[in-house]
Amino acid sequence: MDQGGEAMGQRVCRRCLLRDMAGHEQLKRIESYRDAIRPSDRAGEAEYERRLALCLACGQLLDGTCLACGCYVELRAAARVSRCPKKRW
Ligand code: SF4
Repeated sequence: MDQGGEAMGQRVCRRCLLRDMAGHEQLKRIESYRDAIRPSDRAGEAEYERRLALCLACGQLLDGTCLACGCYVELRAAARVSRCPKKRW
């Protein structure tokens, strides 16, 4: 699978999280969805980062989206009860 590309002279990361893509238009929306999750329903910070690290190492990640479920992984990983569709977390 393609891991990189060029767009308007800038390298485009294909296996990145939205937060790693400077100026990504969906980032603010994802952050506001995350903020709307009740604190008691959110994954803890360490668990959230653990999940995202697994997504970063996963071949299903493309442009911040999980190809297995179609979700933005930063949103999917944020809810305490969420599970990886491939059982990686
Ligand atoms: S399959 Fe699981 S680990 Fe892979 S990108 Fe999707 S949610 Fe993340």
